[in-house]
Amino acid sequence: SLFRGLKFLTTVNDLRQLPQEGLEVAFAGRSNAGKSSAINTLADHTRLAFVSKTPGRTQHINYFDFGGDRRLVDLPGYGYAEVPAAVRAHWEKLLGQYLMTRQNLIGLVLIMDARRPLTERDRNMLDWFRPTGKPVHCLLTKADKLSRQAQTAALRAVEKEFEEDSLITVQLFSSLKKQGVETIEEIVGGWFSA
Ligand code: GDP
Repeated sequence: SLFRGLKFLTTVNDLRQLPQEGLEVAFAGRSNAGKSSAINTLADHTRLAFVSKTPGRTQHINYFDFGGDRRLVDLPGYGYAEVPAAVRAHWEKLLGQYLMTRQNLIGLVLIMDARRPLTERDRNMLDWFRPTGKPVHCLLTKADKLSRQAQTAALRAVEKEFEEDSLITVQLFSSLKKQGVETIEEIVGGWFSA
C-alpha cells in the first residue's frame, strides 16, 4: 500500500527552497485539525509526522517520500489563533502562492475536523487551488468524535457543497479508529497513476 512505505525526506523553511524534482501531493489543514495524526496513521508509524503539542508553532514544510519520486508534502497548519496576525497572514499568503503555482503538485488533501468543516480559511485554500484544475480530497477527520448519524450528516453536508464540482471528493476519517484508510489510499494512488 502506498502510504505504508512513507519515509521522512526533508524539511524546508522557505517555499523558495522546494525540491525541483518529483511529483507531490500536499496535505493542508487548520492547526489541530488532525493532519499529523492522519499522516502517522496512514504511514502506520506513530511518530513519523510530529503531533503538535503547541499547534501552529511549526511553520516548516515537511517532505515525505513514497518512493519512485512521489512525495507527500505536509504544509504548515493555518489559522492558529495564538500566532501573531502578521505571521499568520504571511504564511497564508505563502500557502496560497504554493497552491496556485507549484508545478510538481498533482493534488491536495484538505484535512478538516468533521465537527467543523469548511471554515473561512479552508474555503480560501479551495479558492486558491480551484483555478489549477487539480483534484482535492477532503478528509473529515476525528469522525470517532461523532455518532454514526452525525458522521453521515457531516459527510452529506460537505458533499452537497461540492456536488457541482467533479474535482472535489470527500470522506470520513479517524486516526483513532483507523477509519477510512483504504479510501484515501485509492484516491491518492489514483492521482499518482493518472
Ligand atoms: P495537526 O495540528 O493538524 O497536525 O493536528 P494533530 O494531528 O496534532 O491533532 C490535534 C489533536 O487532535 C491531538 O490531540 C490529536 O490526538 C487529536 N486527534 C487527531 N486525530 C484524531 C482522531 O481521528 N480522533 C480523535 N479522537 N482525536 C484526534
